[in-house]
Amino acid sequence: TTNRNRSEQLYEEALEHIVGGVNSPSRSFKAVGGGSPVFMERAQGAHFWDVDGNKYIDYLAAYGPIITGHAHPHVTEAIVRAAQNGTLYGTPTELEIKLARMLKEAVPSMDKVRFVNSGTEAVMTTIRVARAYTKRTKVIKFAGCYHGHSDLVLVAAGSGPSTLGIPDSAGIPKSIASEVITVPFNDLDSLKAALEHWGDDVAAVMVEPIVGNFGMVMPQAGFLEGLCKLAREYGALVIYDEVISAFRFHYGSTQTYRVFPDFAAIEPDLTAMGKIIGGGLPIGAYGGRKHIMEQVAPLGPAYQAGTMAGNPASISAGIACLEVLREEGVYERMEELSIRLTAGIQEGADRYGVPLTINRIRGSFSTHFCDHPVTNYAEAQETDSEAFAAFFRHMLDQGICLAPSKYEAWFLTTEHTAEDIERTIEAAHESFRRMANS
Ligand code: PMP
Repeated sequence: TTNRNRSEQLYEEALEHIVGGVNSPSRSFKAVGGGSPVFMERAQGAHFWDVDGNKYIDYLAAYGPIITGHAHPHVTEAIVRAAQNGTLYGTPTELEIKLARMLKEAVPSMDKVRFVNSGTEAVMTTIRVARAYTKRTKVIKFAGCYHGHSDLVLVAAGSGPSTLGIPDSAGIPKSIASEVITVPFNDLDSLKAALEHWGDDVAAVMVEPIVGNFGMVMPQAGFLEGLCKLAREYGALVIYDEVISAFRFHYGSTQTYRVFPDFAAIEPDLTAMGKIIGGGLPIGAYGGRKHIMEQVAPLGPAYQAGTMAGNPASISAGIACLEVLREEGVYERMEELSIRLTAGIQEGADRYGVPLTINRIRGSFSTHFCDHPVTNYAEAQETDSEAFAAFFRHMLDQGICLAPSKYEAWFLTTEHTAEDIERTIEAAHESFRRMANS
């Protein structure tokens, strides 16, 4: 197998200084049997080189943002230009207006936008705004959807729609967890039951309109429509967390996803974004209807601020990234490659008798080691974690970099080539062969 001695040394060193050796738990290999993560040294286009000189094809795309590949020349040039003009002003700039306009074009339900520094911040603030506007406190969310690491959204399901949440993390007061109700995704009956029980107290129903956090999962026909209708019946706002989905599947959000025509009409009251809109630099954004956004300081009583918010470097990288994505045929090309790639992977799994269900949405997909459909979190949890871990390691040893979690997606970028795809298919077949023989 591949030599990763230097990565292992660095991991030992990192463990002495950085808690858990990583700056985000999702980077640890804990969910795939432990050991040292790979320390990368350089990245270009769809490829990584690690500190031991091994080369990889990257399907992690940094958990989403790197949709134009690493060090894309147009994005890099924008970052260099921004750095030369000063990275942080603490004053407004014209650039911010340009990116805000681009986002509004793509997300028509956002009359007003505010930039922040991460998806976590964006989501956290939409909740504050919804509470300020409705003067209610409770939030309904869907099991398995991830909305960042703020207190309120790190709460998992209780035992049924009428029980309140239990914290997913230490350090979250029960009083906060008791403000959250979690129901299964794609399950309008449970949502209805929760609203019937808690309706007058519910400030918002929060959802990933296309799920990216327990695999890629589409809302079933009528689910988002029903969700919005129910929420409004009970006077709750609808918040779309589009941190992953905005600009992922086409130039726009799920709110303008014309590939699925019934999506277009369904607009939330508030939207949170992040990842792609910063072109690989830290960013988040939230926005919504004018009368709701006017709750936010300095206009209204809901406070939200940020020293780094709207900094010229992140904003410039975001504009440049969206300019690349706006070009003709970009998403179609990523989709074509992912159709070929998923067909090749599935064929390998079938040949070696490894149960595998692939959920593909345009240029992104998830590989579930099971022989049932995955439409909600419970079904994703039931998949074979050990099979995924084995597959992940066999792929890594053959130079294919995936996220070390069975719940994460594979992301194509504009820089993947047909040759990358064929190499990846070969590696997948070899991985299944090894799994079948072990
Ligand atoms: N919402 C969703 C849907 C996400 O996928 C993520 C991050 N994976 C977040 C929010 C949090 O974003 P960040 O990591 O930038 O804080």
